[in-house]
Amino acid sequence: MPRFFNTLTRRKDEFTSREPGVVRMYTCGPTVYRYAHIGNMRTYLMADAVRRLLETQGYRVEHAKNITDVGHMRQDMVERGEDKMIAAALKEGKTLDEIAAFYTEAFRSDETKLNILPAMVFPKATEHVPQMIDVAQRLVDRGYAYVVDGNVYFDVARYEKYGQLSGNQLGNLLQGVRVEVDPLKRNQTDFALWKAAEPGRMVKWPSPWGEGFPGWHIECSAMSTAYLGQQLDIHTGGVDNIFPHHEDELAQSEGAFGGQFVRYWMHGQHLLADGLKMAKSTGNSYTLSELEAQGFEPLAFRYLCLTAHYRSRLNFTFQGLRAALRALARLRTYIRSWTLDERRLTPEELDAVSAPWRRRFWGHVEDDLRLPDAIGEVWKLADSDLPGPAKLDLVRDFDRVLGLDLARLTGPLPPLPVHVRGLLEQRREPRDRGHYPQADALRESVRDSGYEVRDTAGATVALPRDPAFAPDKLVGT
Ligand code: AMP
Ligand code: ZN
Repeated sequence: MPRFFNTLTRRKDEFTSREPGVVRMYTCGPTVYRYAHIGNMRTYLMADAVRRLLETQGYRVEHAKNITDVGHMRQDMVERGEDKMIAAALKEGKTLDEIAAFYTEAFRSDETKLNILPAMVFPKATEHVPQMIDVAQRLVDRGYAYVVDGNVYFDVARYEKYGQLSGNQLGNLLQGVRVEVDPLKRNQTDFALWKAAEPGRMVKWPSPWGEGFPGWHIECSAMSTAYLGQQLDIHTGGVDNIFPHHEDELAQSEGAFGGQFVRYWMHGQHLLADGLKMAKSTGNSYTLSELEAQGFEPLAFRYLCLTAHYRSRLNFTFQGLRAALRALARLRTYIRSWTLDERRLTPEELDAVSAPWRRRFWGHVEDDLRLPDAIGEVWKLADSDLPGPAKLDLVRDFDRVLGLDLARLTGPLPPLPVHVRGLLEQRREPRDRGHYPQADALRESVRDSGYEVRDTAGATVALPRDPAFAPDKLVGT
């Protein structure tokens, strides 16, 4: 049974789902008025690992990931000046829908390139405003929210469990968090569920309180309920989501529907660059396409993320990414070489030799996703003298959670091209006679044809060179 660190209980909890065999999981998704950066992608990779692990355990994971396409209303974006880009696009004659569709597509493509399994549903905020109004109305009806001049606020003082997730208690909230002073609020810690549209606002919706637009947190309460029900098993996000976003989401959902909203809250630590949280506004962010433009294939970033535990910060450097790419290419070459191992095992023998490896690997993964240790186990396997067929079988199994697309390499290799076979033939004699300069020159010719020569005890083989493994092409520091 897996154990996950639960931000709510502040310890590792054994995972069980509310309904046997089904996991309902919600992931706070991207804001689609800009490209997602690789820091964002690290958080989605963490959610993907959770999902993959649960699927290997036989659960059907109902996974929803929202698309925030009302970003132009998000106060933090406006404050950081990121709405300038939207203003520019609008000036070019693009509509808000077109801008959102463009960045949604870019995000989905990044996820595909990173082998992130697609969520069952990617609900868009703008298509769920009536559901948000419903949640806000429920909160008003149940006395958790109040209406002032067309605005609806959550009354934090009315909800005694406020602070349970982040540990932020009401008394010290105002000191720690910058809250804009709003004379309409009863308490400055109250947050908006709905805001009245100011004169001239383009994007607005009708509501029982007049025309306006939803607050930031309400979209996740409304859309998680719409697709997964009022009680979820797992909710994921980055640590910056804990407060205020998830604290407020929790208060809204439990206030509106009663019962426990989420059983396991999981938060991923940040990807840093130059020691600071990667963020577009800080100017230290990279997109996946930028890495690709520098010659790095996306899965190298996935590998890099596997080398740090999700609850540890990870400082991104090109040196680290290069090492990840090399490791991945080396692993692929190992796997290809195992396909040439002609030893054969009976199913019983296979089970017997594989069992301890499986136990160790999945033991790490089930213990709050200790993927760096799991990867370590893969390298121990590579160095072990287990027969090739057993190694291949294990890699196919492990790749279900690693998601490195390794399983594809475990089949038989295509036959060598005739000219490469010829070169290997030519090389045999100088090699056997110890004429190394000549043998090495032929090795280089094989290399130029896209193959790597491997001299083993019994034979010489040539393995396809990994296309990723061209470090001379890579730039960066
Ligand atoms: P945003 O588009 O800002 O709402 O962020 C989308 C997701 O990425 C959220 O879950 C954030 O917590 C997460 N996130 C933002 N910056 C980083 C970072 N530098 N490292 C890891 N996750 C991040
Ligand atoms: Zn959210």
